[in-house]
Amino acid sequence: MTDGATARETTPLEERLIALIKSRGPITVADYMEDALLHPHDGYYTSQAPIGAKGDFTTAPEISQIFGELIGLWLVQSWAEMGSPKAFNLIELGPGRGVLMQDILRAAKLRPAFLDAAHVWLVETSGRLRHEQQRRLRDAGIATDWADTFADTPAAPSLIIANEFLDCLPIRQFVRTDAGWRERVVGLNDAGDALDFHLSETPPLQTLPLPDAESVAPGAVFEFSDAAEAIVDEIAKSLSEHGGRALIVDYGHLHSGVGDTLQAVRRHAHWPVLSSPGRADITAHVNFDRLVRAAFAAGAAAHGPVAQGDFLERLGIGLRLERLSAGKTPEEAADLFAGAHRISSPTQMGELFKVLCISAPGLPDPAGFPA
Ligand code: SAH
Repeated sequence: MTDGATARETTPLEERLIALIKSRGPITVADYMEDALLHPHDGYYTSQAPIGAKGDFTTAPEISQIFGELIGLWLVQSWAEMGSPKAFNLIELGPGRGVLMQDILRAAKLRPAFLDAAHVWLVETSGRLRHEQQRRLRDAGIATDWADTFADTPAAPSLIIANEFLDCLPIRQFVRTDAGWRERVVGLNDAGDALDFHLSETPPLQTLPLPDAESVAPGAVFEFSDAAEAIVDEIAKSLSEHGGRALIVDYGHLHSGVGDTLQAVRRHAHWPVLSSPGRADITAHVNFDRLVRAAFAAGAAAHGPVAQGDFLERLGIGLRLERLSAGKTPEEAADLFAGAHRISSPTQMGELFKVLCISAPGLPDPAGFPA
């Protein structure tokens, strides 16, 4: 490489993956995602500061405090509908910088009994982000613990929230070829010095939930996430057994369809998925259809998904904006308006993002969803 032709930035993770693939053959997209995001030393969430203006992407709670405040009130109402249990888990999956939980706890102050009953559990793999969450929530004055996985949280009635969490769980991809479905895998380029997409030579197992190959066009891509479905299954079982609700917010499609939604983002711009693993965020759209099915199959009820904008409208985003803006300077009021608009407008995050509620059976219809 003496001609300077490689502007490409090779990362330690990429070198290890290349060596692994050379000795053992291609890996699935899911294995690639898992390593690129969560590798204990070089994974993206482990080693980078992903969220916010200085990071790679931003999220609804980072854009507008109203997002977390309305969800806080939704959680307080859910707690009341559960019969106001004296002790419950308030669980957040993938809490990022802890901003959403901070806004939730501030809004929930209007029901001190809710805060007295809550034990906060933050499910987070990144030590770096755990540290930031700890710093931000230190003054909230509420018992807080961390867990690596949802399964590590204690059995109890629970209220669970996950914003932009399921989209970073690994997916597998399958491509419709003339010979039927073939799994998309990560192998090497011809020169053997960079990662490249290939197709597996052998057909996938019959037991995988793939649509009939004849029903889709050649070249179509089908994706699903075993990891996302497994977490929804665990949540739904826990809610059916111990009571409570989960609110899942993410971008994705309402109906299982075909389409390649795997994408990487770095410094607020698109980035090639296989370049510099560990330095860019990698996500895929959430397949809500399959999650709803997983929730029902595990004995829970499900509501939605509904568009995030509609959900926030139903919870009163307009009124909250008005209240917050009263007495503010025109600049502050304009900022509040811009944030609320960005998270709720159909042309911005209001339509692409969806809200799904998974619930213990027998609870009333939750606020924010059509009855
Ligand atoms: N909910 C936050 C952050 C979303 S980014 C917000 O709205 O701003 C995704 C978060 O999930 C990060 O905190 C990341 O470290 C965490 N994460 C990703 N994969 C995870 C996994 N498998 N288990 C636990 N946490 C995970």
